[in-house]
Amino acid sequence: MARYTDSVCRQCRREGEKLFLKGDRCYSAKCAVIKRHTPPGQHGQARQRKQSEYGLQLREKQKCRRAYGISESQFRKYYDMASNMRGVTGDNMLCLLERRLDNVVYRLGFAPSRPMARQLVTHGHIRVDGAKVDIASYLVKPGQTITVRERSRDMANFKDLREQGASKPIPKWLELDSENLTGKIAQMPQRDDIDLTIEENLIVEFYSR
Ligand code: SF4
Repeated sequence: MARYTDSVCRQCRREGEKLFLKGDRCYSAKCAVIKRHTPPGQHGQARQRKQSEYGLQLREKQKCRRAYGISESQFRKYYDMASNMRGVTGDNMLCLLERRLDNVVYRLGFAPSRPMARQLVTHGHIRVDGAKVDIASYLVKPGQTITVRERSRDMANFKDLREQGASKPIPKWLELDSENLTGKIAQMPQRDDIDLTIEENLIVEFYSR
């Protein structure tokens, strides 16, 4: 799979809003979206033309894909899965993305950003119901517990969480026991639980052209 290796801040500047890909820096004045308001590249400063309908749909799809840090082909698979499920395709797709293990690790506050959460998972620091799972796209289910591997618990990453608790609110579909570095999937996520500013109907329109 082709991996994005350029500056991740360019992705936020391209989408014109914070995608929170760098942890603490995203909340500071050093954030590139605050410092530079224009899209990246040679023509970034040129006057923006009015976007076509297709352009709006494309940007919304790219924004969502980049926020969750997944490839185009994977993202398309989520759309196909969502459209084969009962209910509203856009809602289904966002809920599937929320259930990814790397996203859950991020939402529980085990990592300050999704890319860092993904690294924790792929490096084997995370257990699901006591068993090692190092696949970032693993979809969690209600009732499962997510913990940090015993010998990884002293890592600096987890120190603040153990001592001070979560620094961000935990979505209501998750429960966190910060002292024991354990999270539980209390229920399936609903669209209202997802705080991303994404117009999922535009993504559905993009793929159903
Ligand atoms: Fe995006 Fe964070 Fe970089 Fe700001 S600091 S541009 S939110 S990745």
